Amino acid sequence: MSKSNKKLCLLALEKSSESSQKFRHGAIITKGKKPIVYGVNHSRCTINGNYSSCVHAEIDAIHKWLKIVLKGKKFNNKKERLKFLKMKGKKYKLYVVRENNSKNEIFSNSKPCNDCTQVLQICNIRIIYSYNNDVIISTKPNKLSDSIITSGNRSFPINIQKKKSINNNLVFGTY
Ligand SMILES: [Zn+2]
Repeated sequence: MSKSNKKLCLLALEKSSESSQKFRHGAIITKGKKPIVYGVNHSRCTINGNYSSCVHAEIDAIHKWLKIVLKGKKFNNKKERLKFLKMKGKKYKLYVVRENNSKNEIFSNSKPCNDCTQVLQICNIRIIYSYNNDVIISTKPNKLSDSIITSGNRSFPINIQKKKSINNNLVFGTY
């Protein structure tokens, strides 16, 4: 892992302490090596007016990022907006980590779930995430496998549909 990646992962970890959840995740979106926005997972009930059981750190950060990059922008249609995001997202990276409470390791597995992966793919943002045994993985969003279902989604399957609309709203909603 490069020195700057390690430094940014540690910064995301520092942010995760602001999470009120049992499993604390922290995320940062950077442009080059410069942190632009932060995010943590939290239990806020609405995001952009839609219901959610738990907002993941990636979505919290993306939400803030969209506010910045879409500010003052007007698009004639969805296609134009998607094209703009694809072009814009290439210049940014998202770091997401989970705190590990053991003494031997710093990070826990924080591989983005299906919902977050979908959003990251639309925004075309490179992802650097912590994995088991303190491994840090850097990947393009379209290389993330779609096999992970978070325990939140497992216990509340009914929320999956609602969550989808939130993610749609994040990408297509008004900012
Ligand atoms: Zn997620």
